[in-house]
Amino acid sequence: MLFDIRPKSSRRELFDREHELSILDRLVDRGDPLILVLGIRRIGKTSLLKSFLEEWNGIYIDMRGVSRESDLYRRFSMGLSMGIERLRRFLKNIRGIKVMGIEVELKWRGRDSISLTGLLEELNRFGERIVVVFDEAQLIRPPISSLVKNCIAYTYDHLDNITVILSGSEIGLLRDFIGIENPSSPLYGRYSYELIVRRFPRDLSLEFLEQGFHEVGLRVGREVIEEAVELFDGIVGWLVFFGRSYLDGMRNLELILDAAVNMAYEELCKLRRNEKLVLKAIADGARSWSQVRRYIEEKTCTVIPKSTLSRTIRRLEKLSIIDNYRFLDPIYMYASKRLRIK
Ligand code: ADP
Ligand code: MG
Repeated sequence: MLFDIRPKSSRRELFDREHELSILDRLVDRGDPLILVLGIRRIGKTSLLKSFLEEWNGIYIDMRGVSRESDLYRRFSMGLSMGIERLRRFLKNIRGIKVMGIEVELKWRGRDSISLTGLLEELNRFGERIVVVFDEAQLIRPPISSLVKNCIAYTYDHLDNITVILSGSEIGLLRDFIGIENPSSPLYGRYSYELIVRRFPRDLSLEFLEQGFHEVGLRVGREVIEEAVELFDGIVGWLVFFGRSYLDGMRNLELILDAAVNMAYEELCKLRRNEKLVLKAIADGARSWSQVRRYIEEKTCTVIPKSTLSRTIRRLEKLSIIDNYRFLDPIYMYASKRLRIK
């Protein structure tokens, strides 16, 4: 069902994205070692990747909430448990790996344990291409970030049968994480294809909603659908949010928008004070560095150091919230208007 709020996991369920799937198929087929899949939150990266993996031997690992080595191994175990049975059977007799039914258990410390690199080396011996996806990879923090980066670098250089895909919503932070241009990064100088997942153009967004409502047998006026696309743009996660809310009986577009803006607002509340100030300035119409500065100084009656302001703007760009003094997602613009300046 198109209006299912969970990520899609099969090509059949996926609306459009044939072009992105064909690029991924081609890159993996030719044996690229590293691919980046980038796009703002709710644009459909996870759905694209999970559906893509349907036709490949894949291991999907969500890096949200992974802060310790034990978390990482647990997620790897989950990824293997959800993957193909042939692979589990293949791994069965390897030291450090226990397979019980579909459950895979990894022992990563002490006697008879297996390291992450060791595991990837074993996977490389499977004899078929294996795709390892790290979703929201920019969230990988020290101490495990160096472990993961070294492991990816090793895979890149030596394990020909493995393709690593790194995906992330905070595009600048993901690029920093990899550090392709940073000589001190283990991944320095490695080539990777960047696939940008984009919003649907207006006609596809309209079609998406029409098809979604048609699927559940609900007749919805064209004006409502057009207005929803106007508000939520081609960001598929918001279109699903709208469709689902409407389906569940919420027929007031303003209320649906309000609920979406609240969700975005909750996320923005976690930002630092200066970041919120900049977002509020841009939401209220500041369109340049000096306009942002003037806005903040007038509102707070304090002088913000130039370097601090520049750094703050850069960080918001890396978080993929703004680009060139514009919001990438209109809902975050509305949410920023609600931020209070204290
Ligand atoms: P991201 O990982 O970029 O944050 P998700 O894949 O989680 O985005 O998608 C957000 C929402 O949009 C989910 O409800 C998902 O089911 C839906 N969705 C994303 N892409 C598609 C698509 N191509 N077709 C149908 N639904 C989609
Ligand atoms: Mg996702």
